[in-house]
Amino acid sequence: MSTTKATHQLTKQHNRDLVLKTIFDHETISRAQIARLTQLTRTTVSEVVSSLILEGLVQEVGLGSSNGGKPSIQLSLVANSRYLIGVNLAQNRFVGSVVDLRGEIKKTVEVPVRGGDGRQATGLVYKILDQLLDNEWKPVMGIGVGAPGLVNTRAGVVVNAVNLEWQDLPLAHLLGERYRLPVRVLNDSQATAIGEFVYGDHRSDGNLIVVNASHGIGAGILINGRLFQGDGGGAGEIGHVLVEHGEMENGLLCRCGRRGCLETLASGWAVLQAVQSTQRLPGKSQARTLGAIETKFCAGDPSVKEIVLEAGRSLGTAIGGLVGTLNIKKIILSGDMTRFGEPWLAAVREAMSEAALGRMVQETQLEIGKLDYRACILGSSAYLLLDDYSLLFRQQEN
Ligand SMILES: [Zn+2]
Repeated sequence: MSTTKATHQLTKQHNRDLVLKTIFDHETISRAQIARLTQLTRTTVSEVVSSLILEGLVQEVGLGSSNGGKPSIQLSLVANSRYLIGVNLAQNRFVGSVVDLRGEIKKTVEVPVRGGDGRQATGLVYKILDQLLDNEWKPVMGIGVGAPGLVNTRAGVVVNAVNLEWQDLPLAHLLGERYRLPVRVLNDSQATAIGEFVYGDHRSDGNLIVVNASHGIGAGILINGRLFQGDGGGAGEIGHVLVEHGEMENGLLCRCGRRGCLETLASGWAVLQAVQSTQRLPGKSQARTLGAIETKFCAGDPSVKEIVLEAGRSLGTAIGGLVGTLNIKKIILSGDMTRFGEPWLAAVREAMSEAALGRMVQETQLEIGKLDYRACILGSSAYLLLDDYSLLFRQQEN
């Protein structure tokens, strides 16, 4: 291929990515609006749109009102023209779904996980993907995986996931070889943040922090609509920041091997440990799951209530630190701990207010996300597109 031809090809690819991204970002949009937003000429936009329509990725969906002028034809993504797979490798279950281009979940497969055996855990991921890829939702364009622990997204490697016994596991490579599809692996809290951002109605905010409080604790940070991963990919790993310096010898031993981490105070695991230790007293019935603790919490058990709210306060103090560091106004809470609802949220908010400057806290909106465990699935699938829009074409051309 000649240089000019190659350059022309690249420009074409770039324009298509740009137009497609703009259409993806809007429910419906006209050709003229696309031209304005992308700064491409109307002719170029029309050409690209025509080929997108021909490929079945974009459709015309009727007339929209325009201010003053004549109504213009609106375009929209064809949601079911391509599919993506998102997987959430949560603590005690792995869940994967086939998702359409608008984030609608078409099929879900879930397997329980006991943990502690790395090879078995990898086998369970295969089991889920085998089932998800064997159905009528086609073509699947790629696989996104939200994994716990430290993840090197660029290399597709799970650097360290303690409870799955994964160390330097080249998960993207393994899955890519097996399924012959593009694969992206990212931290589960970061995936959750993308899910809330793209599908939880927060795109207009631009910046967003999502704090995932489940068995472990982590946060995902979006700045100007892009995931901020930090220099080592671990941005938002607040679960293993020490927050308790007094009486540390009495504190729970964290899975990272230290005492005093946020996770030992504010996570679902910490709440379970604390409730169980009070229940060793005679005459108390045992609560073995967070669900059982929720029942006691709702029934007004005072000691359970105090443990849950104290966990909320610890989380709030840590979030106050994020407010002071980043001054991002929208913070979403996600994960298992959100089951404790408004009283827990109030405890988090109160401690956050005490931990950061009044003026900054006043402007901070703290709320519980609407997507629960699906946020991670949707986010890991959406990451495939955000990372590389041309994914949608490349497969088509092969
Ligand atoms: Zn720790």
